[in-house]
Amino acid sequence: MSFTVAIDGPAAAGKGTVSRAVAAHFGLAHLDTGLLYRAVGKRVLLGENPVAAARALRAEDLEADGLRTQDVAQAASKVAVMPEVREAMVDFQRAFARRSGGAVLDGRDIGTVICPEAEAKLFVTASAECRAERRLKELVENGHQASYDSVLADVRERDARDSDRVAAPLRPAADATCIDTSDLTIAQAVGSAIAAVTAART
Ligand code: C5P
Repeated sequence: MSFTVAIDGPAAAGKGTVSRAVAAHFGLAHLDTGLLYRAVGKRVLLGENPVAAARALRAEDLEADGLRTQDVAQAASKVAVMPEVREAMVDFQRAFARRSGGAVLDGRDIGTVICPEAEAKLFVTASAECRAERRLKELVENGHQASYDSVLADVRERDARDSDRVAAPLRPAADATCIDTSDLTIAQAVGSAIAAVTAART
């Protein structure tokens, strides 16, 4: 039986952590759809055409090194405004969502565009300042250099681009459960998400 959990929200709100925990708790497969856009963004930084790169994308590309840098994140949010790029990756995401055994997909438009029929929908958010602090910590832990101000500027710039675009803008689905993680511990955020998904399963 397929069971789809759609988890959307802005950059660095805790979607990844919550999604991995929900997937592990319910035994579901997990797809971080941001990696699709990052993989295309990285290929564009290397000189490829964005639409051609999106059409040529293979599952192995999601394992490539260097997808987590700020440069690649910016390139990802620039290619993500292009309707042809988004369109090229719809089928892959929908097939993943409907795999037997069920799946968690996280991104920006999963509950609104990719899987409007998802059995459970969450919108995970947090203040821009909180998200910048968390992203900075993650970057530094992974050996990257960055300042708080540059990460906050990056978060705000991507929020604006993701929310203001015409194609699949970032917004909660009307029937999504919103979780603001600004003042929550990881355990609390994960607990709220698991409770919401449990309610949707019964
Ligand atoms: O989630 P992550 O920060 O890795 O996503 C990188 C960029 O990819 C986002 O800023 C957004 O522009 C784009 N994206 C998107 N739709 C998704 C997932 C990511 O537009 N479903």
